[in-house]
Amino acid sequence: MSEHEGDRAFTGGSIMGSDPESVFAGATSFCRRRYTRDLTGADVVVSGVPWDCTTTYRPGARLGPRAIRQASANLSFGKIWPWNLDPFDHLGVIDWGDVAFAEGYREAMSVKVEAHARAMLAAGKTMLTLGGDHYTSLPLLRAHAERHGKIALVHFDAHSDTWDDDYEHHGTMFLAALDEGLIDNERSVQIGVRAFNGEDQGMTILTAPWVHDHGAAAVARVVRERVGETPAYLTFDIDCLDPAFAPGTGTPVCGGLTTAQAQAVLFDLVGVPFVGMDVVEVSPPYDHAEITALAASTIALDFLCLLAASRTGAGAPDPYQGGSGRPLGGSPRPAAG
Ligand code: MN
Ligand code: MN
Repeated sequence: MSEHEGDRAFTGGSIMGSDPESVFAGATSFCRRRYTRDLTGADVVVSGVPWDCTTTYRPGARLGPRAIRQASANLSFGKIWPWNLDPFDHLGVIDWGDVAFAEGYREAMSVKVEAHARAMLAAGKTMLTLGGDHYTSLPLLRAHAERHGKIALVHFDAHSDTWDDDYEHHGTMFLAALDEGLIDNERSVQIGVRAFNGEDQGMTILTAPWVHDHGAAAVARVVRERVGETPAYLTFDIDCLDPAFAPGTGTPVCGGLTTAQAQAVLFDLVGVPFVGMDVVEVSPPYDHAEITALAASTIALDFLCLLAASRTGAGAPDPYQGGSGRPLGGSPRPAAG
């Protein structure tokens, strides 16, 4: 133990690094980061948006941020396999807490989330946001497009979320993002889609069967080719994963990605110019054994590792290596004594 004893989210001296703190105790900030609104030294700001009133089926995603934080406590020990780095050695990361708004009012939520994002981006921070239903991505994209220009959207989802409906909900906001000029459909890609939508709005879609047939490396190649040097935003709807890997979500669809497939894509995206990420649609009332919250927190942590690896020039991780960096199974056991 260092100079403080437990509850690092409130007592830690530095926002960098990881401590061997008891992960079953204390406050449930994201990856046991400092829970603060002081942005000093922060490269990445984690925020929650506890909102699910634009869900079309089963609500519950308003409880997502808290569940993701809780599941993440068990992930932050130091170096993360297979990145072989501790992202918190390279990135100052704080948990800002949840954006507050009058519950039940979509416009109030949108205005507050966009204002929060605009403030974080104006301060030069990268945002990692925990939803919330997927509609919360729209105000986030508004702020990111204002800051960075038209965004390349890298969108994991069972659904294309570009439906042209009479009312706004968590299946319409990327059509709005196209209409508002927030995202560049020439630079964007949707991954894992497996729900009928008669109008794809010109988006490039890698369906879930395409991912299953071609593999993660092919997905990553398409992402790199499409994004190029454009500032990219990663939006990860947890229902892109199969219900076996993410049962706790409002609109589950069979035939989806495994958690491992999604991770393997992220392992291969080091150097892609990501400017922000959200992970959305975790609905704890439908979750079992934290499966979904654990998947969401793992994907979010992999994104931080990706940022750290991009920043340090570490390059893509080699998942065929163990934690020591040596090939798995290729190293003799040291002699005893
Ligand atoms: Mn979605
Ligand atoms: Mn979805």
